[in-house]
Amino acid sequence: MTQQNTKKIALVTGGGSGIGRSICLRLAKRDIHIMVVDLNLDAANLVKDEILRDNGSADAYAVDVANHQQVHELFNTITKHYPIDILVNNAGIAHIGNIENTAEADLDRLYNINVKGVYNCIHAAIENMKSRKSGVIINLASVASSVGIAHRFAYSMTKGAVLTMTYSVAKDYINDGIRCNCIAPGRVHTPFVDNFLAQSYPDNQAEMFEKLSKSQPIGRMGKPEEIAGLVDYLCSDDAAFITGSNFPIDGGFVTLNN
Ligand code: NAD
Repeated sequence: MTQQNTKKIALVTGGGSGIGRSICLRLAKRDIHIMVVDLNLDAANLVKDEILRDNGSADAYAVDVANHQQVHELFNTITKHYPIDILVNNAGIAHIGNIENTAEADLDRLYNINVKGVYNCIHAAIENMKSRKSGVIINLASVASSVGIAHRFAYSMTKGAVLTMTYSVAKDYINDGIRCNCIAPGRVHTPFVDNFLAQSYPDNQAEMFEKLSKSQPIGRMGKPEEIAGLVDYLCSDDAAFITGSNFPIDGGFVTLNN
């Protein structure tokens, strides 16, 4: 661990790619020490190196958020020396299919990463935050959390759970100085979207990218940096009055798409 004692610490899961990477880079610019946590250590290390090149400070760790023991071991190691001031539960995966195309194993996999992964991290961080009467938790949900998305049965279901988990945690710890909020992005252009297009439309990926972009009410997909900007705000003292809230950031997807 390389951080200096005076810096705040943010732990970002799924920090090696897409939205998580942008969140790490953005918070690092605020002089926050970043713990980049990802299943993919190479990806986490690349983000760490980017931060260090920009004179920030960061560490990288390989952890599967679905693994209760691994998460607890990492958080215990960190909190022996440092507080976790900010926890961003960003790691998540998708699955395409309605209920008939969702095998039990698919459902278990999505539940374990998208729901249990968030539970594991909050469960491992909460004691440290409570003992200091301070902490910020931000969970990455989705537009699917509130309205569901066609052919994304397991994804919608698990992201709905992330939203209600946010409300529950916010209520339980409001008197412990802990704020817990949720962000609900619409389509954001990351490897998550590229993988979906490559998988679903291997022969006309570029055309489908255009179509998907144009189908958003605002006429384009979001940028990871735009999500990172909202996370940055919610972590800051300017957001001290905000807890138990859900923030759609979706180019109008939920409210204007009818
Ligand atoms: P991404 O696929 O680009 O990145 C996800 C990262 O999470 C990867 O680095 C991956 O290695 C890591 N990861 C996956 N499983 C993990 C595990 N078990 N343990 C630790 N790390 C793991 O995805 P993204 O588009 O940046 O999405 C980030 C979050 O935002 C996800 O929770 C996703 O559901 C949510 N989201 C994305 C979009 C979108 O359009 N991109 C829209 C709404 C919500």
